[in-house]
Amino acid sequence: MSVAVAIGGSIGGLTAAIKLAEIYDTVYCCTGFNNYKESGNNGESRGLRTFNLEEELMDIVITGWEYWESIGLRCDLIHEAIIHRSAENVEYKITEKHNKLLEILDRISPKFRKRESKQLNENTVLEDTGIYRIQEIVVELKKIAHARGVVITPVHLNILKHTDDCIYLNLQDSDDYIYELDCDRCVISIGNEIKNIETNMEITKPIAVWNEFTYFTIHTLYSHDGIWTWGTENYNTKEVYKDRLGFYVMMENPEILKVACDTSFVNNKWEMSIENLNEYRKQKSNFVKKHLGLKYSDYRHIECYYSVAPYVQHSGPVSVINAGGYGYCVPGFVINAIEGKKVPKNENYERHLFSNKRHDLSIIK
Ligand SMILES: Cc1cc2nc3c(=O)[nH]c(=O)nc-3n(C[C@H](O)[C@H](O)[C@H](O)COP(=O)(O)OP(=O)(O)OC[C@H]3O[C@@H](n4cnc5c(N)ncnc54)[C@H](O)[C@@H]3O)c2cc1C
Repeated sequence: MSVAVAIGGSIGGLTAAIKLAEIYDTVYCCTGFNNYKESGNNGESRGLRTFNLEEELMDIVITGWEYWESIGLRCDLIHEAIIHRSAENVEYKITEKHNKLLEILDRISPKFRKRESKQLNENTVLEDTGIYRIQEIVVELKKIAHARGVVITPVHLNILKHTDDCIYLNLQDSDDYIYELDCDRCVISIGNEIKNIETNMEITKPIAVWNEFTYFTIHTLYSHDGIWTWGTENYNTKEVYKDRLGFYVMMENPEILKVACDTSFVNNKWEMSIENLNEYRKQKSNFVKKHLGLKYSDYRHIECYYSVAPYVQHSGPVSVINAGGYGYCVPGFVINAIEGKKVPKNENYERHLFSNKRHDLSIIK
């Protein structure tokens, strides 16, 4: 009897479990715990950005969301649009692939209107792929996995050793009880936590890239469209960064506005002083008050870490996924990893080898 295991309880682990269940007799999905220090899946919402996305990653997005559609993922999980504001003029070309993605999204998350991306003016583009609810996708994937016979279990992977054709797993539950399991195939999608697994896998470990979401409680009526600024101004130096993703704003829920931004405003974590952290936070609150013209009554800061490494790595019968900021590419990475298909190189990894001072995962090509 063939056995496969998916490790991770978020979009990657669950997608892998569902795909593996098409191939293997028995599939386990080990979801781990919820309190990891350098986790990348905080909060409810994420943007499905394809504006300025590399062509090869666009193919990955379509592969993944088409797969989600094919397994029956359906719910109202995509809200509103993303408004992209560039520091310079842009000419937005809507490709066939983009339209294909919009059609897939229409079917997965049918709303009262048909999705349509468009150029609004010379430096503003509306991308109708919108904001997706990552935790709602997790809930739906869990139901699908369960219906397809996947054994979902909240255990944590401690040790993984493999030979060419066999994998040994050492797992632990919340009562510290240890389970040992052998399997034929394993797909791991646990972000930065892979660094803490004892293993003989030959893989490049991720760089945990710090960022911080700030959640502002607003009481003003506000359009729910997300806002991505490309090129942004440092309020202190007045320097304009034209080629970077600057602010990244979306509604977390009807009252909470979530804001992240380029971390070049702070030095890297190890050098971070209270002063430059405060400056970085001031950039975000200034953006909310001055640019968006919103008043807020409260706010809280929550750290969140990009996991930057090659997107897909194979070591014998094990595959490891590290998606960095590209959560919407996760299902495509997983499908291609299992089907042995090609995945583009992660240029951001090379970049971060030389500079870990910024989060600019979305530099304009
Ligand atoms: C600041 C920030 C902004 C982002 N913005 C976006 C965005 O706008 N759009 C977008 O699409 N993506 C975005 N992302 C990226 C997205 O959140 C991730 O790429 C995505 O969550 C990765 O999914 P995953 O399933 O691989 O792992 P994660 O979602 O990171 O989940 C890891 C899972 O593994 C489990 N786990 C951990 N360790 C173990 C273990 N040892 N054993 C078993 N289970 C374990 C955890 O419990 C969890 O279930 C952003 C990320 C960051 C940090």
